[in-house]
Amino acid sequence: MSDRTKIQWCDSTINPVMGCQGCPLWPTSAALISALAGELKNQGISWRQARELAVSAVDGLPASAVYHGRHFIAGELGGATGRGGSKDTGAIAAAIEAGFRCYAGLLHLHKGKDPTQPTKRTNKGYAPTFEQVTCFPGRMAKMARKCDLTGKPRAATTRRTNAGQENVVPGKPWLDGLPRLVFVSDMGDALSAAVPFDYLESEIVGVVRTPPGDRHIWLWLTKRPARMAEFARWLDSEQGAAWPNNLVAMASVIDGRMARAVDHLRRVPAAMRALSVEPLIEPVKIDLRGIDWVIVGGESGTSARPFDLAWARQLRDQCRARGVAFFCKQLGRRPVEDGLELRLRDKHGGDWGEWPEDLRVREMPRALARVTR
Ligand code: SF4
Repeated sequence: MSDRTKIQWCDSTINPVMGCQGCPLWPTSAALISALAGELKNQGISWRQARELAVSAVDGLPASAVYHGRHFIAGELGGATGRGGSKDTGAIAAAIEAGFRCYAGLLHLHKGKDPTQPTKRTNKGYAPTFEQVTCFPGRMAKMARKCDLTGKPRAATTRRTNAGQENVVPGKPWLDGLPRLVFVSDMGDALSAAVPFDYLESEIVGVVRTPPGDRHIWLWLTKRPARMAEFARWLDSEQGAAWPNNLVAMASVIDGRMARAVDHLRRVPAAMRALSVEPLIEPVKIDLRGIDWVIVGGESGTSARPFDLAWARQLRDQCRARGVAFFCKQLGRRPVEDGLELRLRDKHGGDWGEWPEDLRVREMPRALARVTR
């Protein structure tokens, strides 16, 4: 839980569920096999043999286990191919690492269980491994008790970390005066199939409706809008309960395929719907009917893919044409302008003083008026 997050479009974050059953930002077994086989083939092995070796090394293992064991796997494969030098085994380990792009998943790899280090201390606030989706009841209620921010400015603050470092949280003037905006589920996906609807009803919907919860706006993000729509239907038909006004339904879109899933989000009877288009990895055209807010950003991390600013402008223009609020969150690690990579001091591209002026747009949706008391 963070009651003062650096994420630009909200005040706080909360995770009633930790872990996730994956998405294209977290490798499947097939993706790992393909990446490994590709690297082995690069090293001069026939495609058939490369594939057989890759299957024997990782098939059936959870992605977390493959990540933790990547140096061991690389050594074994290097031995099997007769190319066990550090350059080749390093390239095999790097091919595995490249598929791990989800920030929440990477944090779990560092904080959770590592089978290669059985004595390592794990952080109890995380799922044991990212794939072991785990419920944390009570977190939402704790967040609900945080103070009401209605009418308050969001000035920059300085916080001291446990290690004694000064951490500056920049101001967010675009949130000034609004109730507290709480981002639900930034460390996993609460709509993973393993999470029962009963739990989502009591832990999320139930808390959002309580008097303390009703003072805030909760923004629930998923990459599974079809399951969110199914949950909304269950809530109505099985529980006779309406979707709370102050619970914003949000879906992630990173490419054209996910853009088509926005139809499912439209089936959620929320007073406000929003999209997080981050990391945007290709130009997308999105049907924005019924959508109130679009947040866009590039990819962060050492293996970040390029973020062509023309894609952000296209999205901004689509939003303008439909009267949808547009919020440029950050440009990521590799923003590209006219075919050239921009060199920014901020590695996340989060300092908009470094951006082209026409992308310094952080609009808040008019629909917020519908969800506030
Ligand atoms: S937490 Fe989100 S980004 Fe990470 S693997 Fe799950 S759905 Fe993908």
